[in-house]
Amino acid sequence: MSKKPPLGFISFLRKFDRSVPWFKVLCLILIGAGLLCDIWRASLSPTPVHISHYPLISDAAMRPLYVRRNLTGKKLIALTFDDGPVADVTPQLLGLLRQKAVRATFFMLGSRMAAFPDVAKQVAYDGHEIESHTMNHRNLTQLHPNDIAYEVNAAVDAQKAILGTEPWLVRPPYGAINPSVRANIRQPLMLWNIDSEDWKLRDPAQIHAKTMAQVKDSGIILMHDVYSSTVAAVGPLIDALRSQGYEFVTVKELVEHRQISLVPGYAYGNFSEL
Ligand SMILES: [Zn+2]
Repeated sequence: MSKKPPLGFISFLRKFDRSVPWFKVLCLILIGAGLLCDIWRASLSPTPVHISHYPLISDAAMRPLYVRRNLTGKKLIALTFDDGPVADVTPQLLGLLRQKAVRATFFMLGSRMAAFPDVAKQVAYDGHEIESHTMNHRNLTQLHPNDIAYEVNAAVDAQKAILGTEPWLVRPPYGAINPSVRANIRQPLMLWNIDSEDWKLRDPAQIHAKTMAQVKDSGIILMHDVYSSTVAAVGPLIDALRSQGYEFVTVKELVEHRQISLVPGYAYGNFSEL
């Protein structure tokens, strides 16, 4: 037994049926326009990234990081993390960076991005800059040009497939560069000017001291998101740098602020003396 539609609705339909044709056409146009608007709005909203292992934090929590800041006259510093992502240390670091509202730059290995795609997605979702550290961390200066190209391009392809983005910069493993490396890489090469030596020291206090001894405006700090001792060092380091008036930027923000056009195949890292 079907439910009777309300009388008001029926009388509306009768009136509509008796109405003049131009009114019907107008109604159809309005309904069509409404539908088109909905489709257009749906196409504008970003596709949500599905991450199975981590609870995503809300946009509102990260919003302060997205605010475009006025960096004029500020002392700038960029935290950079190489060799990840990995399953345990990278998420720990992300939690800390969220807590401190700091955006960093991650030079990821294509092979690890492929191994831990969910972690890579979380780094991207948190608003950090993601650049390339090649596919397999080989010393590019010891490779045939074809293999150099492979190491770079395979990592670019991995990032495209996993994150849908492309790296702008390549940080060659070990900072090893020669003319062949320069000739065979289409991206600018990004090094650093402050070495935390975290890979060697593996001790938060020593990493802290080593880094703070070199700190300067437009510094690019080299660290690795594969050691828990590095994560332990990062919190106090952020606090110490903030207390000295440093503003945290990604490498891209630093380069943009310096208004430098980077040239493919050239190596950069020291923006302090420009
Ligand atoms: Zn490395």
